[in-house]
Amino acid sequence: MWECMLFVWKNEYGCSHVNEGMNTNKALFLDRDGVINHRIVGGYVRNQHEFILQSEIIPLLRAARQMGYLLILVSNQQGVGKGVMTLEELEHVHEYMQEVLASELDGKGLDDINYCTELASANSIRRKPAPGMLLEAISEHSLDPTLCWFIGDSVSDAQAGRAAGVHTVLIGEHPAESADVIIPHHSGLLALIDLF
Ligand SMILES: [Mg+2]
Repeated sequence: MWECMLFVWKNEYGCSHVNEGMNTNKALFLDRDGVINHRIVGGYVRNQHEFILQSEIIPLLRAARQMGYLLILVSNQQGVGKGVMTLEELEHVHEYMQEVLASELDGKGLDDINYCTELASANSIRRKPAPGMLLEAISEHSLDPTLCWFIGDSVSDAQAGRAAGVHTVLIGEHPAESADVIIPHHSGLLALIDLF
């Protein structure tokens, strides 16, 4: 009896929200190399020893999660497509990343990990600057893109973010028009929380 009433109440509650739009969750999308860990210029992070945490990201991740943002990785990893590393090695790096982040974030790493291993020449709709990975995550997690942010360090990150309709941040020296917000250095990351 109670289960039945609860079911009806949930349905009515759900319907009232349908009119306002299905997607109400929000996420902080994150590029990996140059945002979560130090980028290896001209190379790839192939094992856990080469994964060096960019520690200035941690306070922002903590604050964003407290505000209800899902933390979602969106990373191009064509080193696999090039044969520089295997998919298994990439997944080991991500397992290690999750361990490191969990130890910094009260026991839980990122909420979701998306990566594209295809070569740039394959023109995949999932590979940034295309928005495929972002659009998949928006659908899968019922995200409202207008509530989401994407932090990257390459112009292709901001291009993907804009194509997916999310707010964009670029770290580093970039033309002002290349993203909604430019921060010259990682030390500016935590201040972003005032925009969220
Ligand atoms: Mg990057």
